[in-house]
Formats: sequence, structure tokens, C-alpha cells
Amino acid sequence: MTVTSQPVESFDLVIFGGTGDLAVRKLLPALFHRFLDGQIPASSRIIGTAREALDDEGYRTQLREALAGSGDDTRLEPFLQQVHYRPLDARKPEGWADFAALVGEQPDHVRVFYLSTSPELFVDICARLGEYALNEGASRVVMEKPIGRDLTSANQINDAVGRVFSESQTYRIDHYLGKETVQNLLALRFGNALFEPLWNAGHIDHVQITVAETLGVGHRAAYYDRAGALRDMLQNHMLQLLCMVAMEPPSSLSPDAVRDEKLKVLNSLLPIEGSQVAQYTVRGQYRAGVADGASVPGYLDELGDAKSNTETFVALKAEIGNWRWAGVPFYLRTGKRLPHRVSEIVVAFKPVPHSIFGTATGPLAQNRLVLRLQPDEGVKLWLTIKHPGPGGLRLRHVPLDMSFAEAFGVQQRDAYERLLLDVVRGNPTLFMRRDEVEAAWRWADPILEAWAAGGESPRPYAAGSWGPSAAVALIERDGRTWNEESD
Ligand code: NAP
Repeated sequence: MTVTSQPVESFDLVIFGGTGDLAVRKLLPALFHRFLDGQIPASSRIIGTAREALDDEGYRTQLREALAGSGDDTRLEPFLQQVHYRPLDARKPEGWADFAALVGEQPDHVRVFYLSTSPELFVDICARLGEYALNEGASRVVMEKPIGRDLTSANQINDAVGRVFSESQTYRIDHYLGKETVQNLLALRFGNALFEPLWNAGHIDHVQITVAETLGVGHRAAYYDRAGALRDMLQNHMLQLLCMVAMEPPSSLSPDAVRDEKLKVLNSLLPIEGSQVAQYTVRGQYRAGVADGASVPGYLDELGDAKSNTETFVALKAEIGNWRWAGVPFYLRTGKRLPHRVSEIVVAFKPVPHSIFGTATGPLAQNRLVLRLQPDEGVKLWLTIKHPGPGGLRLRHVPLDMSFAEAFGVQQRDAYERLLLDVVRGNPTLFMRRDEVEAAWRWADPILEAWAAGGESPRPYAAGSWGPSAAVALIERDGRTWNEESD
């Protein structure tokens, strides 16, 4: 199969935090892969910056090691020749004039400023970019999550960045939206006549979204402890997935048509406040246990703080107050040190109204549409069929199974590959608009406030388990179960 890539204009992409984990582990490999596919024009430049005193060659040496084996090694040198480095401290004036002169060398290029630093630095970096007029022309700024830790702090960041870059220049990245399966949700829902008539409270029993990690917090413990599972995963990635499942058909794929529909979903989420928080949410924190076959310490030991109340697991039941979804629960759960690394959306359809098969076959299983985002991206539609052969009518529940890797024979691409080039092309469809971020915090804040006011510790769970038993009870008291395949 021939896959054609859309051409891109020449660009300069500046990565603030160019020596950090995200840049080295995700952004630069993604750019290298785009280079291998011929999508980085020869005059384009990638400019890393951080405080570390490196020159171009020193930075290339770091990257040479980091990128070895991630693609065609014979093409690494030509790629690295397009990579540059400037030492900069976001909080100090030294070096900025030299940096501005370097960026200014190619004024006709699209300029992308990727803020891959801690959010406290976004304001200083943007102020300097404004001071040197680097926000002018075809300039764009990309913000990594977390955008704030509540509505107030998100507004402060957005206001400060907004003083320098207009909303149309601002790209708030949520890499979950760059995943194939998430875009496939659009294709499945709106490219087929089959699903949309059933896509409502009349036919859908409930929706589950699981984002499970086997890793603990590791060296990011200090960052994580200030966030927790709700801020780190649920308020952003998982609510975005929920929006993609629940939104009305947009009139087109234009950025605002899609984002307007997502915003309506966020604004329709029923608040979970006060005493409802204990009823509809479960928070957990992992203890020592076994993960990936090895004994691992608990969160508090990893953190070195026996008193932390930060949750490493959250499960909750959300509802959307509109005509399409009234009464359909959306069960969301995410956590660290769970048994498998899996991210998936499960759309569970209502059971048939009457079984003609008698009691011998037992209850009929629900049809489920399972969209797996990782590890092996794909779609499964669970159907009831007759078990082949004579000997009576025996029913089986089997999936129509389409693994994207198998079906298309293409290697999975990291979401950042697509999203980085969407920024260069000026296509913000898969990025969050400011009002979406605000609406998500407006819904999440009362939950965080109730947890803080209650002062209760998160429920302990053993590393390698599916979280506290209360998370199972949360769904089972409604007569439902978490998708067994993911468990
Ligand atoms: P990190 O490894 O700690 O890297 C931070 C980078 O910022 C380093 O390059 C650091 O280099 C630079 N830096 C720190 N202080 C600076 C200053 N005053 N001026 C200029 N540069 C400075 O962090 P990360 O994991 O890459 O994360 C970056 C951002 O992405 C964070 O907001 C994080 O929450 C978000 N994020 C990360 C991931 C991930 O997988 N890592 C995933 C999603 C979102 P120097 O110390 O040399 O200056």
C-alpha cells in the first residue's frame, strides 16, 4: 500500500526544554521519523534550548546516542545537521539576543515554539519571545500539559501566553488526540451509516474508558506528587476521549466545528460536587506489590514521603446531561502500577429486548465496540454468533477484530509525529482550545476540592492489581463490570 504524506512548508521548530525527557524520548524521535519520510524540508531547522551549556555539536552528540536504533541509522547524520542548540535560561536575559538573531535568519519560515518545560516557565518564555518580536508572522506556540492545576492557574497561564500569542497561534497539545484509534473514532462514527443511529441512550448501555499503566512514578515522583491521577490523566486525556465518543456530528472537520462540539460535551457534564464525590469517585494509591513480574515498592517509598495524599489511581462515574446521553454512565478509570499497560474505550450496547434462544444458552452477552489505543491499536466489535457445527444451537460471543498493524501492515506512528506537523501546517483541529481547557477544569475542580476538604487518604491498592476494590464496586453496584479483556 502506498502511503502519501502531505508536503509541509519550511519551518524552524524551537524546543524549549530540548534536553528534557519529553524532547529526547518523544519529540526528537518523532521529528527524525518525519525526516525519514521526507517531510522535513532541507532548509528547516530544529533548535533545542535549555540551560545546559552545550553547542550544536554537543547537543547532536546527546541526540546521536538517544536516537540510535530508532530509525534508519544511516540517515541520522543528515538529520542531525538540521538540529541546532542555544543555551538559554527562561528566567535570565543572557543569550536571548543571540537566539533571536538565529531564529530571525529565516524570516519566511513557519516558526513553532514548543514549550516542553515545566509550566511555571511558560510565562517567562513567552514574554521574552514577545520582547524580541518572535511572535510575529507565521509563529505558533505549543503548550504541553499540564495547563495549570485548577481553573484559576490555567487562566493565569492562558492569560500570560495570550498576551503574546493569539488564540489562533496557540496549540495546546493532548497527544491522545493524535493517536490513530482516536481519529478512527471519527472515521467509524461519521464515515459509516451503521453506528450513528445506535449512538445514543436508546441503544448504548454505558461507556468505559480505561488508561492503565504498569509503571510507577519513578523519577517523576516529585512532579507527579503535585498532580495526581485526576490532574495528570483524567482532566485532560480522558475527558478528550470522552468528548470524541460523545460529541454531536460536527458539520465538517474544520478546527472550530470539531472543537465547538467537544466544548458542548464538556459543558454538559453533570457536576460531581460535595457529597456526590464520595459516591461517584474512587481514589487510590499503590502500595508495594508485583509489576511486570518484579517486586516493586509502594508510592510513598518511591516518593520518600510517608504522608502524601496524592492519588495514583482514580475511577469515577460521569454523566452527560443532554438528550443523546441522559442516563448513560461513562465509567472512567486510570492508574499507575496496574496489571497491564492498556488504553481503551469500550462502548457497551444494550442487551437484546428478548431472547428467542431459551434458557439453555444463558443470558446473551452485550455487543461491545472496543477501541484500543495502546498497546496494539485497533478496533473489536463483539458479536453473538452460532458456534459452527451440528449438535444444537450453541451461541458464542466473538470479536470482529481489526488490528491496525496487521490490517494495514504499517508500523505504528507515535502521535507526536502527526501533531508536530499539524502545528507546522497550521491545523489546530486536534489541539485543545482555551475554552475546552477551562470547561474541563470547571468540572474537575469541585472533585479536587471535595477530596481536599474531606482530607481522607486515597485507598491503598497493591501494585499489580486493578486498583482499590471500591473501583470494582463503583461499576458493579450498577450491575455492570469493567471490560474483562482489559483486566
Ligand atoms: P524534564 O525532563 O524535567 O525537562 C525539563 C527541561 O526544561 C530540561 O531540558 C531543562 O534543562 C529545561 N529547563 C529547566 N529549567 C529551565 C529554565 N529555567 N530555562 C530554560 N530551560 C529550563 O521534563 P519533561 O519530562 O521533559 O517535561 C516537560 C514538560 O512536558 C512538562 O510540563 C511535563 O509535565 C510535560 N510532559 C512530559 C511528558 C513526558 O513524557 N516526559 C509527557 C507529557 C507532558 P536544563 O535543566 O538544562 O535547563
